[in-house]
Amino acid sequence: MKKHLLFLGPPGAGKGTQASLISNSNSYLHLSTGELLRNEVEKKTTLGIQIKEIINSGKLVDDELVLEIVKQNLGLSNQGWILDGYPRNISQADALTKVLDELNQPIEKAFYINLAENVLVKRLINRGRADDNEKIIRTRLDIYNETTQPLIAYYENLNILEYIDGDRDLKTISDEIKQKIA
Ligand code: AMP
Repeated sequence: MKKHLLFLGPPGAGKGTQASLISNSNSYLHLSTGELLRNEVEKKTTLGIQIKEIINSGKLVDDELVLEIVKQNLGLSNQGWILDGYPRNISQADALTKVLDELNQPIEKAFYINLAENVLVKRLINRGRADDNEKIIRTRLDIYNETTQPLIAYYENLNILEYIDGDRDLKTISDEIKQKIA
């Protein structure tokens, strides 16, 4: 059973939903950097207020800060884990590789869940999170295309990439993922 997993894909592709489904049924840690950052925002600390502004602009939070959050949470886990929303750029991917080498827990599979852009936009607008208005969605998609999309080739080169068609019902998708990690 593969237990060190990465979920990649554009905002709205269903990474978070699938990561929840798989981590619940396999008792893995679901590590969503977006979720952890939103928790920090909820605390209304000075840091939280800064993070809120960045999230609501659709841009990426500082690499060092996100790495610190990931390190703290990965250290807590001796079960499997699913990274959802991290890494978002090549420099985060390099930093992650180093951390995971030290932990001796390399990524076994990177699932790339994808969907047509017009479907993504519709889904995000329907989701209605604070950063899901049309202007912020456009920024997030542009940043995704420019800085996150190159990670597909990065993990493809490591021979751990699995492409998943995200335009199907939840169960069909999670069954396929489960089969690929069995
Ligand atoms: P998500 O829940 O993954 O859609 O993330 C929501 C927002 O949190 C993003 O638009 C970013 O502002 C921030 N964020 C989440 N993950 C990262 C990351 N790995 N690096 C930088 N910013 C992130």
